[in-house]
Amino acid sequence: MPGFELFGDQERKEVNDVLDNGVLMRYGFDGMRNGHWKAKALELELTKTFNTNHVQLVSSGTAAVSVALASAGVGAGDEVIMPTFTFVASFEAIMMLGAIPVLVDIDDTLTLDPKAVEAAITDKTKAVMIVQMCGSMGDLDALQSICTKHNLLFVEDACQAIGGTYKGKPLGSIGDLGCFSFDFVKTITCGEGGAVITNNADYYTNADHYSDHGHDHVGHDRGAETHPFLGYNFRISELHAAVGLAQVKRLPEFIAIQKKNYTILRDALATLPEVTFRRVPDGGEESYAFLNFFLPDLDIARKVIENFKENGVDVSWNYFDNNWHYIREWHHLKDAKSLFPLSSEVRQALENIKNTKFDQSDHFIGRNISCLIKLSWTEEEMKTRASKMVESIKASL
Ligand SMILES: *Cc1c(COP(=O)(O)O)cnc(C)c1O
Repeated sequence: MPGFELFGDQERKEVNDVLDNGVLMRYGFDGMRNGHWKAKALELELTKTFNTNHVQLVSSGTAAVSVALASAGVGAGDEVIMPTFTFVASFEAIMMLGAIPVLVDIDDTLTLDPKAVEAAITDKTKAVMIVQMCGSMGDLDALQSICTKHNLLFVEDACQAIGGTYKGKPLGSIGDLGCFSFDFVKTITCGEGGAVITNNADYYTNADHYSDHGHDHVGHDRGAETHPFLGYNFRISELHAAVGLAQVKRLPEFIAIQKKNYTILRDALATLPEVTFRRVPDGGEESYAFLNFFLPDLDIARKVIENFKENGVDVSWNYFDNNWHYIREWHHLKDAKSLFPLSSEVRQALENIKNTKFDQSDHFIGRNISCLIKLSWTEEEMKTRASKMVESIKASL
């Protein structure tokens, strides 16, 4: 997945454009920039990549989720449904706004189970946020129709699925708002950065203003701009945007390499009857950023991870015991370890999460192994890796 593996002359050239005139900020300083507007250029490029009307760059993927929700009016007391398997950023971004994270089970797609979503809807529910984990997606049609039926916002966190598609549409462009991260380990990187995408002009205007202290961005005198509403600072810098501008142009190349490497590993594992693969909904195409497969049970999955380690197969995880991506080890969330007071509603919601059993999620995450697909692996390394993986699994059964 990580675009940083293939840094080169293009990235250097774009960054040097910025350094040559010294304008590191995306807004203002029109006269000094010699025509370089890297953030604007990257936003334009991303509208094409994601086939969307509007793109707002921000400082991170976590910021993108907060900005997306805020732009659509989600805030204090509103419930946002999210999956048990994701990155900690999901609940962080929701709680930043005083909104309430409601965690629900995943299914064999490794993200939201539509039945669990429907069962979790209350009169406080405002949004459903799917997280397209590990390069693939959930049952988007089913989730979309639940949202339509209950008049809920549908938000996609596609941070890990840049380049994946569903029925020909880029992941991230299907919901009301889509969120991306360009942090250092994502398929394309800015170093740090993120984006909100939407076809809704009002949400876009809100995101544009909100991510820059509420500035209306009218005219060419930043000091004279007014503040139609309260905002915050989630700006990206020109230096970061410059790196992303080089990387986004290489996305097709990155996806092709991921697909080639993924296919070699998948073909090798498919020879083992005990191995099954994560379900990709009909009409979906993964981004091939990860290969995800299931083993018969948790004990075998743990043994496979041990054997992978012994045989030098790296970047592969069973998320059941993981601190970052699965609810089991999110003790800081379940115990409401906050530096500052949380509202009683949020504290109650965290107490509920602590007291809920997620057996269906445990079932799928316990048996799952997730392998990062790197861009820098050679053909020779791929072959060795594939055979070591097969041997490690055989030895664990
Ligand atoms: C990386 C990631 C984020 C957060 O992105 P940052 O840019 O690191 O803040 C959010 N959601 C998912 C699924 C991610 O993988």
